[in-house]
Amino acid sequence: MTIKTTIAGSLPKPIWLAEPEKLWGEWKLKDTELFIGQCEAALNWIKFQENTGVDIISDGEQFRKHFVHGFLELIHGIDWNKMTTMGIRNDRYDAEVPTVVNELKRLNSVHSKSTEYCLKNTSKDFKITLPGPMTICDTIANGFYSSRKEMAYEFAKILNAEALELEKLGVHTIQFDEPAFNAFTKEASEWGVELLEVAASGLKCKTAVHICYGYGIKQNIDWKKTLGNEWKQYEDFFPTLNNSSIDQVSLECANSRVPLEVLKMLNSKEILVGVIDVASLKIETPEEVFKILNEVSKYVDYKNIIACTNCGMAPMPYNIAEKKIKSLVAGANLFAKSYN
Ligand code: ZN
Repeated sequence: MTIKTTIAGSLPKPIWLAEPEKLWGEWKLKDTELFIGQCEAALNWIKFQENTGVDIISDGEQFRKHFVHGFLELIHGIDWNKMTTMGIRNDRYDAEVPTVVNELKRLNSVHSKSTEYCLKNTSKDFKITLPGPMTICDTIANGFYSSRKEMAYEFAKILNAEALELEKLGVHTIQFDEPAFNAFTKEASEWGVELLEVAASGLKCKTAVHICYGYGIKQNIDWKKTLGNEWKQYEDFFPTLNNSSIDQVSLECANSRVPLEVLKMLNSKEILVGVIDVASLKIETPEEVFKILNEVSKYVDYKNIIACTNCGMAPMPYNIAEKKIKSLVAGANLFAKSYN
């Protein structure tokens, strides 16, 4: 038996490409040089993941600065000069966000060029991540549509067009990132999952959704302190998610207060089990990774388990991320062996 491995999404950028150890570090290159640099950085991570034995690899999001705005930069109808201060994730923190001022349109593909480059340079299964409709709408102000849901529906259609184009190029998995789900659990159940399915409609490749309690930034850490010892928010929308057409759910299990038994509610899904804590610089041992996978296997069918990181690793030191990925693979191998 083997167990598949992947990563949730972002990886650190090399020091010559962007400001290091920042969530949204500024680029150090411009125009054509920037794209060439991004390609080189992505290629380095592709080769690293291949050599380490990661099964479903990614570009480490080397082509974007911000996981939502990187997608929105090429969408028409958004005014980047009209910044609005908005409470994010149900007022967990305020942020300056761009404003939708006109009908949203995607004239060109956002990620095709970079994805083509990556696919040319690997024979492994390749995963691309896109922001989910609900999370996009929690990161941008609405100055045009009659409701947030209506704006989210427009984004879902735009995401779908992008996803279908990326699928045609040959990507193995398309993952939508929806960290906003756990801040709006009721809305996630009422329309978030439905719009996720609009974004994924017609796709024959694997589809995934990443949900999470956010990066280790202060606002998130303070918020997490208010959630009690057991984080059961997922119970509100897991039944809806389990009935959806999305194939995989990615969530944090390392150093997380999510009680693992909630995973029983996702019995029709493959689970990308977060075994690597991205908010800590301590390198997990393969045995620690094994322990989490073994615990999860009490609630999730073995064949539905894929070992993954808790979340994106963008703000970490480069060499720490490398070591953590090595532990992820080694721990997954230990777990697979225990089933032989
Ligand atoms: Zn995350």
